[in-house]
Amino acid sequence: MAQRIAVLVEHLEGQPTDVTFELLGLARRIANTNGAPVEALLFGQGVRHLAETIPADRVVLVEDPRLRYLTPEATAVTLAALLRADPPRLALIPNTSLGMDVAAWVAAALDWPLIAYCEGLEARDGQLVATAQLFGGKILADVRIDDRPTVISALAGAFAADAMQPEPPGTIERRDPPSELAALHTRSVVLERPEAADVDITRAEKIVAVGRGIESKDNLELAEQLAQALGAVLAASRPLVDAGWLPRSRQVGKSGLKVKPKLYFALGISGAPEHLEGMKDAELIIAVNKDPKAPIFSVADYGVVADLFEVAEALLERLEG
Ligand SMILES: Cc1cc2nc3c(=O)[nH]c(=O)nc-3n(C[C@H](O)[C@H](O)[C@H](O)COP(=O)(O)OP(=O)(O)OC[C@H]3O[C@@H](n4cnc5c(N)ncnc54)[C@H](O)[C@@H]3O)c2cc1C
Repeated sequence: MAQRIAVLVEHLEGQPTDVTFELLGLARRIANTNGAPVEALLFGQGVRHLAETIPADRVVLVEDPRLRYLTPEATAVTLAALLRADPPRLALIPNTSLGMDVAAWVAAALDWPLIAYCEGLEARDGQLVATAQLFGGKILADVRIDDRPTVISALAGAFAADAMQPEPPGTIERRDPPSELAALHTRSVVLERPEAADVDITRAEKIVAVGRGIESKDNLELAEQLAQALGAVLAASRPLVDAGWLPRSRQVGKSGLKVKPKLYFALGISGAPEHLEGMKDAELIIAVNKDPKAPIFSVADYGVVADLFEVAEALLERLEG
């Protein structure tokens, strides 16, 4: 089993997350090239039924009340104990708010290499090469993976969730919880859901997005009017959300939401990599910025170098007139 590929199953409220299936698909594609088995590592409490839905050759199941919610610490000590006892070729972990902590913790505890923010993984000349984002995606690094067991935290949305088999899983093996769970420093008490969002920008077909160029909260009214006239929803870059001008559910980007509308109309947004990450896949991008060198123009289909207020008012007049 030395060549097997292990995947940490992330789940929330009784459902494996999408990125878990993306990593299982990735593991299967690598496995298909060298015949390695794919192993899913499922931790929780009362999650046996989930094991039956996971497409892997083997599901290793650890159940314990202290794993009821997957906190980084409880997940990391459990994962490290399993990997230490039987090292795989690769340990694939979602690069989510949970997985980022878990991957770093496990790699340090086992003294294994960690490739974080991985967005590509393929065999080249018989060697596995991972592509990882550095500096928030400004630089991409290709990393050759040597013979050591390696931890990879992979970005959500970077890999397709296809090529998954077998369904249902080959075998399900239950393991005892590790003794380290008795000495946790953190415990989860309750799972609180955020307040329901007023709109779901990830499903919107048209988005008018505003950035710091809008200058003040009062000016949002103009952008909202434009959005309404276009049949679009209003979204924003992070600084506006941090300032409390719009709720977090309207933030586009790395630490916000990824959107893929038919139209993304960006007003006064510079186009930082963290913002582009959330909207660059929109079908049509129109950007208005008074700075001709603004990076948003690098992804825009149409760019307008102009004052956003002049453009928004002229457009409103045309749409409403
Ligand atoms: C870990 C991390 C995560 C992050 N996550 C996110 C994220 O999820 N989403 C996000 O958006 N950012 C995120 N950021 C922040 C990101 O780096 C940028 O700081 C942010 O996107 C900038 O927002 P902005 O474009 O609105 O503001 P600015 O960069 O200040 O740009 C304002 C733009 O408006 C233009 N402008 C000004 N006045 C006018 C006018 N009258 N007419 C036309 N144009 C005008 C300017 O030329 C400028 O280009 C993150 C940063 C980090 C470090």
